[in-house]
Amino acid sequence: MRRTTFLGLSLALTLAPASALWAQSKGTVGIAMPTKSSQRWIADGDNMVKAFKALGYQVDLQYADDEIPNQLAQIENMVTKGVKALVIASIDGSTLSGVLQKAAEKGVKIVAYDRLIRGTKNVDYYATFDNFQVGVLQGQSIVDRLGLKQGKGPFNLEVFAGSPDDNNSGFFYDGAMSVLKPYLDSGKLVIRSKQLGAMKVGILRWDGATAQARMDNLMSAYYGKDKLHAVLSPADILSIGIISSLKGVGYGTAGQPMPVITGQDADLPSVKAILRNDQASTVFKDTRQLAKVTADLVDAALSGRAPTVNDTKTYNNGVKVVPSYLLKPVAVDNTNWKSVLVDSGYYKESQLR
Ligand code: BGC
Repeated sequence: MRRTTFLGLSLALTLAPASALWAQSKGTVGIAMPTKSSQRWIADGDNMVKAFKALGYQVDLQYADDEIPNQLAQIENMVTKGVKALVIASIDGSTLSGVLQKAAEKGVKIVAYDRLIRGTKNVDYYATFDNFQVGVLQGQSIVDRLGLKQGKGPFNLEVFAGSPDDNNSGFFYDGAMSVLKPYLDSGKLVIRSKQLGAMKVGILRWDGATAQARMDNLMSAYYGKDKLHAVLSPADILSIGIISSLKGVGYGTAGQPMPVITGQDADLPSVKAILRNDQASTVFKDTRQLAKVTADLVDAALSGRAPTVNDTKTYNNGVKVVPSYLLKPVAVDNTNWKSVLVDSGYYKESQLR
């Protein structure tokens, strides 16, 4: 008898704070992230949890190990559990139409995060960085480092692109090519492999090991005697594989320095590679800002306020133009890493050494 009362009392005590919290919450937001293999997505998840909690939401954050069926199952589960909104960084931007239709029928607000979701009307907003500009910054880094504007050259270049199923990949590639093409046309840049085109040089699922294997093949097929001077790499996660490959054939020494290698994300290992002069540059996309913009978009959509967007023409997903908020990417190299990454509080200097 006494035991039952005690149990009942402790149950009531444990339940009380939880239900009080629930009463204050504005509901749950489901956050579907692609993978933890690149550090940026971990930061995106962490920053979104903070941003949504600050606005009074609960979050259900899931990572899908870069497997499309995992991501689909995670999103289906979120919809079944009754999330109010979905924030999705898709693995393959064109595979989500079915589950998003179900979500939309339940009134769930849907935001494409960083990567556009394609082929469905059920995307309310898109929060991202100016993806074309990311590529422009990568191309400019190659032009500046090689001294192409000053008339130097010819130089040998090889180019990589991102996963063909990621809508961003074409934007990055086109942005970079908008800067590099005049030098390819004039012969100041030469692609000895002649392998060009975002689809042809794309690395499925942004897999670093695949990029490393492709670089190995290019080096053995085309660079027996000739030197490689630059590599357009669209992301740090690929640059790491490319650098490993080039180290394997003797680059990265005083006598044979690394080619100019670009990147994106300012992932910690790659910032360290910049400090060692293995990588020339990266493009920083502040995930704190992206998380904040996303949380604001969701909050506005759920509370009937007009969400703030700054681009209503660039991102056509095949069915509609998705209203977007584009943030500004920032080029980082060994001259400005401290002011951009440390002074902004993104990293502590001790993490970079
Ligand atoms: C993101 C990049 C990232 C890449 C690989 C892209 O969609 O925009 O920041 O490097 O995916 O994860």
